[in-house]
Amino acid sequence: MLEISERTRNLGTETAFDVLKEVNEMVRGGKSVMNFCIGQPDFDTPEYIKEGAIKAIREGKTGYTPSAGIPELREAVAEYFSRTRGLDVKPDWVVVACGAKPFIGYTILAVTDYGRGHEVIYPNPGFPIYESLIRAYGAVPVPLPILEKNEFRIDIEYLEKIINERTRLLILNSPHNPTGGVLDMDVLEQIADIVKRYKNLWVLSDEIYSQMVYDGKFASIASVDGMQERTIIVDGVSKTYAMTGWRIGFATNPKLAYYLARWVTNTESCAPHPNQYAALTALTGPQDEPKKMVECFRRRREIIVDGLNSIKGIKCLKPRGAFYVWPNVTEACKIVGARDSENFRARLLYEAGVAVLSDIHFGHKNEGDGEHIRISYAASEETIKEGLRRMKAFIEENSLY
Ligand code: PMP
Repeated sequence: MLEISERTRNLGTETAFDVLKEVNEMVRGGKSVMNFCIGQPDFDTPEYIKEGAIKAIREGKTGYTPSAGIPELREAVAEYFSRTRGLDVKPDWVVVACGAKPFIGYTILAVTDYGRGHEVIYPNPGFPIYESLIRAYGAVPVPLPILEKNEFRIDIEYLEKIINERTRLLILNSPHNPTGGVLDMDVLEQIADIVKRYKNLWVLSDEIYSQMVYDGKFASIASVDGMQERTIIVDGVSKTYAMTGWRIGFATNPKLAYYLARWVTNTESCAPHPNQYAALTALTGPQDEPKKMVECFRRRREIIVDGLNSIKGIKCLKPRGAFYVWPNVTEACKIVGARDSENFRARLLYEAGVAVLSDIHFGHKNEGDGEHIRISYAASEETIKEGLRRMKAFIEENSLY
């Protein structure tokens, strides 16, 4: 029998893509759906960035590049990381790849061995690819609960309990997908204090939403004294410059850069040549467009949080970053007789024409923290307002009491 490997059979996924398929089928069938499932800006890539790629293509920048990326982009990224994190980052410590996502896998591969019991701590709820790749690459996933009752902050005492000599990697994600939570410097310092007790413990800091912080200031754990050498910072142009389809992300670490580049050689060879020029244009060009986008997200955040909190049965904390809200719908589920958040999500989609994701798409349910859905507010104000109207009407019309 032709067999599929166990690791492939058990490979996780981003169920967002499955829900998106359902949504597209409904739309093709003529149904009106307000779509809040996708984690990408609803803006087009700014024109001057597109021009950067077009110029590169015209100039014949179409062949392979060094695996770590074109030198100009590595320099620009080093400058960007240094400026935004208050660090001294050398271009040699920077690697470019096809998006931020590949660095999640490369880092796990670079610091853990298959089947040796190496543990990787990851945020739960969290970006589903963390757990999926930890498992696929033969390490042991250890979830770190991110709870609404703690306002999505990391419980330091809990973290201290689960870190041990077998822990090889701690994955942090701030601003956080799916809750919008942001880790402040004081919390990062406490985390760093614990991490530094272990000789062989790396930190993967997924900072893909770093430029989308609405209250307070973005902080990276790499900026804490002594942490740069053991932190792999991951960021990219996908979210900040509305460039998800261009597939350019970058990472930095003084020691690991060489090995990350080697993984790129073994997999992608290099990120697309013209797209690296687009990313270079994005980082070195005028920054008005990304600023405008952030202001848009800030306005939408107000509308969605206020709107959700005015709906019976829904309670929503105000997120501080990214473009997601993580409202508690425990009461709303009871009101409409939905079994759980997933049943609530399905009914919202089919009965109200509102597409969201539920907490089970982001990991295991944390006992006692209730039922949640994730709404991406990277959608127009009209879509947000209509979506809110539909949700409210759905709950009122289906109320069992
Ligand atoms: N990390 C997180 C937390 C994300 O939400 C995403 C995208 N949804 C990524 C990484 C991947 O980014 P990219 O598209 O640049 O690969």
